[in-house]
Amino acid sequence: MDRKFISIAIDGPSASGKSTIAKLLAARLGFTYIDTGAMYRAFTLAMILKGLNPEDEKLAESLINVVEIEFDSNNHILLDNIDVNARIRDNDVADNVSYIASYKNVRLFLVDLQRKIASGKNVVMDGRDIGTYVLKDAEIKIFMIADVNERAKRRYIQNKENNRETSFEECLENIKKRDYIDSHRSFCPLQPAKDSITLDTTNLTIEEVVNKIDEIIVNKGYKECLCH
Ligand code: C5P
Repeated sequence: MDRKFISIAIDGPSASGKSTIAKLLAARLGFTYIDTGAMYRAFTLAMILKGLNPEDEKLAESLINVVEIEFDSNNHILLDNIDVNARIRDNDVADNVSYIASYKNVRLFLVDLQRKIASGKNVVMDGRDIGTYVLKDAEIKIFMIADVNERAKRRYIQNKENNRETSFEECLENIKKRDYIDSHRSFCPLQPAKDSITLDTTNLTIEEVVNKIDEIIVNKGYKECLCH
């Protein structure tokens, strides 16, 4: 008999806590975690390293099927076989990634990779269009939101912990800019899937968010996922 694999899609605006929660959840469930934002960031970094203007769609398209983007066994993102896991979090990438992510053909290239990575596995995948497009049939769909000032605060603290020089105001501006571009693009904009459950994490601890997702998993009838 064919084994049924479970997919958990976590979408939401920038710095709403998706990747922290998705990573934790995947580890607890024994699922594979797929950070699709890291893939858009790696593509953006490829453009920057080649000296190409990220605002030029045609130039971005010239890298489709040329750049190699994959995850290694530690779930670090590799660009052309080089570990760029830390480098993709730098400001030059954060400032440009939403332009790249608005190009339909770049998205189709990365979505194809994302589906290949997810196939035949139990996965937790986070991004902007996972529940609406990439894994439309995901069993569990969460749309994670949080107040924009709280999100900027979290990103500011995270950057500080990683010795990245950014002010709170810069974090806030970057988040607002990405949210705007991500939710206004014509192909696969950031929006909740009709069958998603919205979770506001503004006043919740990480543990509380994970507990709420556990509840959702149980209520949806996938209690066996929690028994690893
Ligand atoms: O998740 P993260 O903030 O690292 O994503 C970086 C950027 O990649 C987002 O601001 C968005 O422009 C793009 N993205 C996307 N679709 C996804 C994941 C990320 O458009 N599924």
